[in-house]
Amino acid sequence: MINIQHLHKSFGKLEVLKDVQLEILPGKVTAVLGPNGSGKTTLMKSILGMTLPDKGTIEVRGEPTRHAWNYRKHLSYVPQIAQFPSNLTVQELLQMIKEVRQEPANEGSLVDRLSLQQFLDKKLGTLSGGTRQKVNLVLALMFDAPIVLMDEPTAGLDPVALLALKRLIQDMRKAGKCILVTTHIMPLVEELADEIVFLLDGKVYFQGSLSELFSLTEKNTLEEAIAHFL
Ligand code: ATP
Repeated sequence: MINIQHLHKSFGKLEVLKDVQLEILPGKVTAVLGPNGSGKTTLMKSILGMTLPDKGTIEVRGEPTRHAWNYRKHLSYVPQIAQFPSNLTVQELLQMIKEVRQEPANEGSLVDRLSLQQFLDKKLGTLSGGTRQKVNLVLALMFDAPIVLMDEPTAGLDPVALLALKRLIQDMRKAGKCILVTTHIMPLVEELADEIVFLLDGKVYFQGSLSELFSLTEKNTLEEAIAHFL
């Protein structure tokens, strides 16, 4: 569903992605792991067509990403840092986005599942970080795209919200979506990830299942397995 071949990306002299090759499949949760600055967000933005590769190709459902805006309808994206207009209420923002997109949306069920009802009339600029992150999730997930890219979706979430997110991800997987997620929360990866990609300094050091990672590294916790590469 997402096919990446020989992807290179530099910012000035900094080589951020180096010959990345990945195949990301539908109906699976693929977790992209790696230290801060290893290139995870750049990889996601490349898939989205927000960052153009210097070399290599990325195909999303058979279409090359250089035509980014033609296939954005296939993709939902939870950005790591969401920018909201602070003077709008949550409800007003949701309404505005629905009017712009003119597509069926399931924001009501997401608002319920993430316990956002009591915040609908609050201005976005007054919300706590975790509540803003819940709004970020609703905005990204309310339209039914087959590919879901989530950049640190757990940021700032309390344990109850984290559980709600976990169930949302499980439901999206059951629905056959292709889910790519970056997170530093290892128990979430252990519970959810069908496939793990480990990036270090812009190179893919590993792609496979958790059990393959454990057997390759001869470790039995994710932290130890990752430390093996560092
Ligand atoms: P984190 O876990 O901290 O979110 P990451 O793995 O997502 O990190 P990226 O955000 O992809 O890492 O950044 C990789 C490197 O590329 C970093 O050194 C970053 O400073 C650099 N970088 C990212 N975007 C740009 C840009 N637009 N211009 C210049 N450098 C950039």
